[in-house]
Amino acid sequence: MYYKDLAGVKVSALGMGNMRLPTTDGNEANIDFEKAQEIIDYAISHGINYFDTAYRYHGGMSEIFIGQALKKYPRESFVIASKFPGHMMEKKGGGVFGFTGMLAGRPDTTVDKLFHDQLERCQVDYFDFYLLHNVSEKSIPFYTDPEINLIDYLLERKKEGKIRHLGFSCHAVYPETIDEFLTRYEGVFEFVKLQLNYLDWKLQDAKTKVEVIRKHGLKINVMEGVRGGKLSVLPEAQMAKLKALRPEDSASRWAFRWLQSLPDIAVVLSGMTTMDQVIENVETFDKPDPVTEEEKAVLAEVADSMLSWVPCTACRYCTEGCPMQLEIPKILSAYNGLKNGDFMTWYDPDKAEPSMDPRRCVGCKACMAICPQNIAIPDIMKEFAGILSDKSQGIPH
Ligand code: SF4
Ligand code: SF4
Repeated sequence: MYYKDLAGVKVSALGMGNMRLPTTDGNEANIDFEKAQEIIDYAISHGINYFDTAYRYHGGMSEIFIGQALKKYPRESFVIASKFPGHMMEKKGGGVFGFTGMLAGRPDTTVDKLFHDQLERCQVDYFDFYLLHNVSEKSIPFYTDPEINLIDYLLERKKEGKIRHLGFSCHAVYPETIDEFLTRYEGVFEFVKLQLNYLDWKLQDAKTKVEVIRKHGLKINVMEGVRGGKLSVLPEAQMAKLKALRPEDSASRWAFRWLQSLPDIAVVLSGMTTMDQVIENVETFDKPDPVTEEEKAVLAEVADSMLSWVPCTACRYCTEGCPMQLEIPKILSAYNGLKNGDFMTWYDPDKAEPSMDPRRCVGCKACMAICPQNIAIPDIMKEFAGILSDKSQGIPH
């Protein structure tokens, strides 16, 4: 494992994301503590020292798990990052807040109670890194609300030593939004966690976003380096181009090596679910092995072939609020396959589970309101439903 500097802290170049831990039954709230602990133990014994969680992950269980998993290790041997879920909160008056989206239904709380609950759940006295979760055009009104005064509250906790370093994760659509936010809070934040990979370089204009963050002199932690797994399994024709250059390397390794060639990157987070993934990723981050200019050009070609993809990262923020219980990310994955001539052989529209049938979408837009990628989900469902209903298009399955 090689290491980077983040705000004066020695951090592993590969960080453990704790939003895709193994579960016992596919329900994200039911983390398989035993299997997940094995992953954490392997990560620590192979040099990973950065652990990223959030109030929201795994229906609130991620913080609880990581607190328990890290408890047996000396506090100075790891760094922990968690996030304030302002993107899923609403004012109820009198300093009390309710939750929205995936967190809807949780008891109302206050900023102070929530923050201290997080420390307790993670079983720590301080967070090495603490982030505003999902700063975007939608959440900025909450994060900047003078009545809530959240940033000042967090700066107070920093003075107390309960937060060592402040940052924010970001799903802003426009680079200008990041620029304005950083300008408004110049000197407050020390890093930005950004969705970054060789596809989003163009697809979500991550290139300009990186330039903006660099202009403000901040380091970047990377999320979605393999785009929720989309860049781990490439269409055959694209994978063949990569195999021609490095036959042994997986698609994930290519994606991570591309990230290793960017300056300004501190930690590359990976939400690892299986031991195989951890083992491979640890190997990839044994030492820097950045892509060459020739390899970079081939990856740009691969990305160009995927620019028409619906940019779903399978974060599942949208699924809980769907009144039809649709498996939205899986349906979008099938749609991507269809549009890119790589339609999943497992998807038979006539035999699909109700949860996999886009024709059941009622267009309520609950999913759109929460999707960090700003995907026009109901429009896609409608289009997909139309294609499925029109057998003349000859859907292969
Ligand atoms: S618009 Fe469709 S997919 Fe989205 S939440 Fe409503 S029913 Fe579900
Ligand atoms: S559609 Fe949006 S919210 Fe739903 S899983 Fe994909 S990226 Fe996440």
